[in-house]
Amino acid sequence: MPSLEQLHFDNTYARLPPGFSVRVPPSPFREARLVSASPEALRLLGLEPSEARRPEFVEAFSGARPLPGMEPVATVYAGHQFGVYVPRLGDGRALLLGEVHTRTGERWELHLKGSGLTPFSRMGDGRAVLRSTLREYLCSEAMHGLGIPTTRALCIIGGSEKVYREEVETGAMLVRMAPSHVRFGTFEYFHHSGQHEHVATLADYVLARHFPHLEGAQDRYARLFAEVVERTANLVAQWQAVGFAHGVLNTDNMSILGLTLDYGPFGFLDDFEPGFICNHSDDFGRYAFDKQPRIALWNLACLGEALLTLIREEEAQAALQSFSATFDASLLGRMREKLGLREPRHEDRSLLETLLARMAEARVDYTRLFRMLGRFDTSAGARNEPLRELFLDGAGFDAWAADYRARLRSEASVDAERHARMDRVNPKYVLRNYLAQTAISRAQQGDFSEVDRLRALLSRPFDEQPEHEASAAPPPAWGKHLAVSCSS
Ligand code: AMP
Ligand code: MG
Repeated sequence: MPSLEQLHFDNTYARLPPGFSVRVPPSPFREARLVSASPEALRLLGLEPSEARRPEFVEAFSGARPLPGMEPVATVYAGHQFGVYVPRLGDGRALLLGEVHTRTGERWELHLKGSGLTPFSRMGDGRAVLRSTLREYLCSEAMHGLGIPTTRALCIIGGSEKVYREEVETGAMLVRMAPSHVRFGTFEYFHHSGQHEHVATLADYVLARHFPHLEGAQDRYARLFAEVVERTANLVAQWQAVGFAHGVLNTDNMSILGLTLDYGPFGFLDDFEPGFICNHSDDFGRYAFDKQPRIALWNLACLGEALLTLIREEEAQAALQSFSATFDASLLGRMREKLGLREPRHEDRSLLETLLARMAEARVDYTRLFRMLGRFDTSAGARNEPLRELFLDGAGFDAWAADYRARLRSEASVDAERHARMDRVNPKYVLRNYLAQTAISRAQQGDFSEVDRLRALLSRPFDEQPEHEASAAPPPAWGKHLAVSCSS
């Protein structure tokens, strides 16, 4: 296994034309130290987890002493924020450190968030607070555990630097990893600033590295866009199925690879509430849980527009029109699995919708309900009491349960086999806000053990882990409606 110093960097993004990024050295952090490192992410780079315990690791990832081959740059992008076009955003508090080329042939961009001022910092201070880096760290690793495409998190570096938000807070830095950090907003920047040759350069770059199967095809740009539509539709379907709300679906937070990107005021559903707004700053609920599919499509339309020098409008429209069929099929397929149904049947949609309506009416905990549904007993006369108790309207539940039982029996479903299958798609553990908050409060006191415990727990969200049973519980009263804002 290579040591830290042997990581092989090949920074292709930094070598794109000058208008794509600006070289910026990181501003070192006072009294930098490791808060936590993800062993899984380290292994992706080919590093032994013990490498993170070396002082050189902290020096490298706090910006004090970059590794050989790192060429930190701040990248430029733009984006529609809450529906309004902002012509120039960019890495205002982050740097692309470089791209690690692993021995297994993978390429991982390392992105240091909270690294200090850049030409794109606008009014900001270039820093990030410990609270928000912890949320991103835990959630990206948890999303990966759930099988949902996402950027990864390598580590968090803490220090004595204070950061001013609504109050004085502890600053921290996060090292994020992704095959690419190109956003819809990167294309929008070049398109709307009239640099159309750079739109093509960027598209060619993305095609060569991430969509090699399309290279050389005459309609490669149209097919690229169609694939981004498809990946995005699938991503949002996965979010919906697991009860995740991103919270700030601006086009600068939309990955060209269809990854979950830029974790801010995200939230997992506790009680099932379709209109759940996880972002306290989202006054009109633009990014509410149930609006995500529509917003994703709106964002894709912005991307399509930014590609109009490369693709015909009819091609863009056709790709956009495929969104809802892809999304619906993907979501219905996933929900069928969550219900333990193997054979697709016409009536499944209404079976699902009735259940969701009853869940919304009684504010049933989303994660717990599906996990418990795996234990549904189809034998004659079974009342499924633990499930029934979750609903306000017992008779209503009984009526649904009778339909569900009949539906399961019609495909000769076997309880024990279905139970095992459902446990592989209905997580027991998700990063509920109150769990994140508990880890944050302890970390702010200097105790990082809860961060490590949650990271390890959430890397296996489908497994029963009896020693962590308490973390599967719905939130206590204090943890039910925690305000999480854009401030980070
Ligand atoms: P976000 O809401 O984190 O996706 O950030 C939106 C834009 O604001 C991005 O271009 C960020 O780089 C920038 N930004 C956010 N926070 C800061 C900060 N503290 N200092 C500088 N730029 C920031
Ligand atoms: Mg962002």
